[in-house]
Amino acid sequence: MFRALLIDKDDQGYRAGLQDLDDSALPEGNVTVRVAYSTLNYKDGLAITGKSPVVRKFPMVPGVDLVGTVEDSADPDWRVGDQVVLNGWGVGETHWGGLAQRARLKGEWLVPLPEAFTPEQAMAIGTAGYTAMLCVMALERHGVRPDQGEVVVTGAAGGVGSVAVALLAKLGYTVAAVTGRPQEADYLKGLGASTVLDRAELSAPGKPLAKERWAGAVDTVGSHTLANVCAQTKYRGTVAACGLAGGMDFPSTVAPFILRGVTLAGIDSVMCPRAERLLAWQRLAKDLDPTKLAAITHTIGLSQALEAGAQVLAGQVRGRVVVDVNA
Ligand code: NDP
Repeated sequence: MFRALLIDKDDQGYRAGLQDLDDSALPEGNVTVRVAYSTLNYKDGLAITGKSPVVRKFPMVPGVDLVGTVEDSADPDWRVGDQVVLNGWGVGETHWGGLAQRARLKGEWLVPLPEAFTPEQAMAIGTAGYTAMLCVMALERHGVRPDQGEVVVTGAAGGVGSVAVALLAKLGYTVAAVTGRPQEADYLKGLGASTVLDRAELSAPGKPLAKERWAGAVDTVGSHTLANVCAQTKYRGTVAACGLAGGMDFPSTVAPFILRGVTLAGIDSVMCPRAERLLAWQRLAKDLDPTKLAAITHTIGLSQALEAGAQVLAGQVRGRVVVDVNA
């Protein structure tokens, strides 16, 4: 038997709750993992509350991230006792996920737990941190360098934003952090931000082109914020867009792209090829200061995940939430 957070949807409506399940209920897969920790990302908040249709099969165990130990494997790449990390691949959406004490998965989805991190630290990073790294790698790929000027991070006090600020600062970039929570200014400066801006400066409809300000950007917010960030990006700068915390729309014009050669780099962590994931985790091991993770993270038990899921969506959670599935 194992304990899991289970979401169901039927005539009685959409509901999530803790249940003890038999191992025979686990989905198809060639590797069984004893889960140590999972996390709560924005998407997990959407799944738990049912606020957006991210769960596409019922019943579903949410949790797009997990870290744990291989208990059983029919995959030659993984042996009993190996410590593994999983991020994405539709896990927690179409395949049972990490908010449970046990998971059965495809071996090809797994990556080894990097030596640099404890299992808890790997989940403090989780999909949010790995996505932040993918954003930074995209800026680098498009030639954004620290000497070119400020880089802006929106939704900065959230999970992706916090890790992006810490990574960019450690890599030598001058980071402007945009937040709707001015009370988190000291937190963001502690992560390495040089400037903290009020979210309101970017969230209202703006002009197609504005004064050039940013050499690069990591945007987790979308909507007018993303449009304004593009309008303020310097000639040949790059904006890595990964989120929609402020809206799915993109009320922009082509002006920044055709008149300033701005690049809009789309970031998807879910189906990102394995080679790039491995690279992102290697880079996290090298470029993320593990002492910053403690400031970014707090840990809760599985039974608190329901409440915390709603808090993530309400923008009330700072940084990252790790879930100890055995507590
Ligand atoms: P969090 O909830 O931890 O952070 C989101 C942050 O966005 C909040 O902390 C808040 O930051 C800001 N925010 C929230 N609501 C609004 C609003 N209405 N207007 C402007 N800003 C707002 O989520 P994550 O960091 O986990 O994820 C961030 C986004 O990135 C989400 O949209 C998520 O779906 C997406 N994402 C995408 C991935 C991909 O593969 N493309 C992977 C992971 C996440 P503050 O308080 O500082 O203002």
